[in-house]
Amino acid sequence: MYSADRALQIISIQYELVMNIGLDQRLENMLSSFMQRTLQRLSLSMVMLVDFNQCELTDDPQGHTEGTSYCFPQVDAAHGKWLISEAKLFYYRLAGDHYYIGKQLRHSYFLNVPQFGVLILERESTPLDEMILAALKPLLVKLSASCQACQEHQNLIKEVEARKLAETQLIEQSMIDPQSGLANRKKFNLSLLSALSSSINSKEIGAIFIFDLDRFKVINNTLGHEVGDEVINILGQRLQECMRPGDTLARIGGDEFALLVVDLSLDESIAFEKSQKIAKKLGKLISAPIKVGDNVFSISNSTGVNLFPLDVDSSLSMRQQADVIVKNADLAMNSVKQANRNGYNFYNKELQSYSQRKAQIENCLQTAIFNNEFEVYYQPLVAVDGKVLGAEALLRWSNQSLGRVGPDEFIPIAEESGLILDIGAWVLEQVCQILSSIASNEALKYISVNVSPRQFIHHNFANDLLGTLNKYGINSRQIRVEVTEGVVIDNIDLTIQKMRYLKDNGVVTMLDDFGSGYSSLSYLHQLPLQTIKIDKSFITDIEKTNRNHVIVDSIIDICEHFSLECIVEGVENCNEFEYLATKNITAYQGYYFHRPMPKYDFIALLEQ
Ligand code: C2E
Ligand code: CA
Ligand code: CA
Repeated sequence: MYSADRALQIISIQYELVMNIGLDQRLENMLSSFMQRTLQRLSLSMVMLVDFNQCELTDDPQGHTEGTSYCFPQVDAAHGKWLISEAKLFYYRLAGDHYYIGKQLRHSYFLNVPQFGVLILERESTPLDEMILAALKPLLVKLSASCQACQEHQNLIKEVEARKLAETQLIEQSMIDPQSGLANRKKFNLSLLSALSSSINSKEIGAIFIFDLDRFKVINNTLGHEVGDEVINILGQRLQECMRPGDTLARIGGDEFALLVVDLSLDESIAFEKSQKIAKKLGKLISAPIKVGDNVFSISNSTGVNLFPLDVDSSLSMRQQADVIVKNADLAMNSVKQANRNGYNFYNKELQSYSQRKAQIENCLQTAIFNNEFEVYYQPLVAVDGKVLGAEALLRWSNQSLGRVGPDEFIPIAEESGLILDIGAWVLEQVCQILSSIASNEALKYISVNVSPRQFIHHNFANDLLGTLNKYGINSRQIRVEVTEGVVIDNIDLTIQKMRYLKDNGVVTMLDDFGSGYSSLSYLHQLPLQTIKIDKSFITDIEKTNRNHVIVDSIIDICEHFSLECIVEGVENCNEFEYLATKNITAYQGYYFHRPMPKYDFIALLEQ
């Protein structure tokens, strides 16, 4: 396999060599070795140098059985003879005892330069990149011109060769991920580029698989990076052992891998089925137990698959097309992640429209604060007797062209784009304003605000929050911060530090959606937490579902054990409430009591 970049670089190395040394009596040897190296490195089957002014290509008069060979009947000039004999030598070396050029003529190229003509045949079906042809031609023009001049620069040859060898080795090293020994992203991109150009020509469909280990951070954060690294190494090795020749397996990020598989089939549905099998096999290989020290892990993964060259816009350059293929596989992988399941997904048009909508939402979000498109709703939290204890601030957005967009859809986009920082600050201002306007209300103890990971880890988050409270004269006990388990697990030390700082300044932090995410209890005792909010998915039909009430009962036990307040959300009917009413729960939230409501409805409720 060669890639355009790599080939150009090799050609330029050879070019420099020839230019530096000039040509002497050993012209034949040098040309011969130059051509040999170029051939080997470019995976070309042979190069013939001929004087096109004096020869014609005809079918092999001897009629070899395996196909057609070429003869050059009219070449008789001295170096013309050499060219023919060299060409034949290459020919024999590469083709063994058989004349099978005829079979391989799918991709052949002629470059016509003064004195020399070059016939390039490629091994198998790998097409030669236009760029390589373009680069070869001036080199051959120069070579041909240099034939006249003869100089002796043997040492220089060695020097330049040694330097170039070292450079080549360095380049090769830079293509390897030092930790796992697998190819890295750079190498993967180059391989994809070359596979894509082959597959456009041969119509053989290939596939890329981009996969990410689910919740790998939990291992790193709870057991340390050495264990995490070891897991990556074992996995890398395990996967590598199952690769076919021609596959490229690369580690393209901390816990992200990519696999390139070529020549699946000419038929789209067969290629699809084969890729499906590969994705399943990947899942199995990854989830098979991994033992590191005393720990045994079973890791799931999310895989995005994209076939090529289907659906590729041919007006784009090869590199742009390769980027689109990777981007779309990423889209497919993210769709698996968002569905919160381990598994695989193929890229398709719907995902494309999803990403277009995402871009549109991000665009509209930029001006949403300025255009006054947001509104904060409040959903009361009640005690077991129904009295309002507090509320959760929930953001609502209505945009002229998009209409109403739910926070589940726009918050992750705001988070990803960083817009959440301004949006979060705006929400906090609104909450402080309402708190200052209802300061005299005794019943309402607090309003909680949702803080997304990006906001929470921002270095100024705690001080900005305290500053805003100060500006509105709000007691820090009246505000609570809701963070999800994702925040904690990603940055455990920082989270502890920040929660402690907030706690020292009177602000309670609650762990939201508890149980839905990482559910690793190992970090719980380390955190200066005061409150846990059990995820609403466990409350649904709790009185009927054995699994849910076992989970909820044990979370309540854990809270008692760690002296944490326990809140439940998503209570939708009286059956669920009746089951929960007897438990040690501080506050209840859900449609059964109140839906999220606009500011003035909430104020009116408090005044009843
Ligand atoms: P969350 O923090 O888990 O908020 C609770 C969600 O449950 C709210 O959805 C609420 O309307 C809904 N809910 C409340 N009671 C019930 C019930 O009985 N049944 C059901 N099925 N749902 C109930 P909402 O308002 O659509 O918010 C969705 C998510 O968006 C929130 O989930 C939160 O993660 C995020 N979000 C909302 N506002 C903000 C905000 O200002 N900042 C940040 N960072 N995230 C926000
Ligand atoms: Ca919440
Ligand atoms: Ca929640």
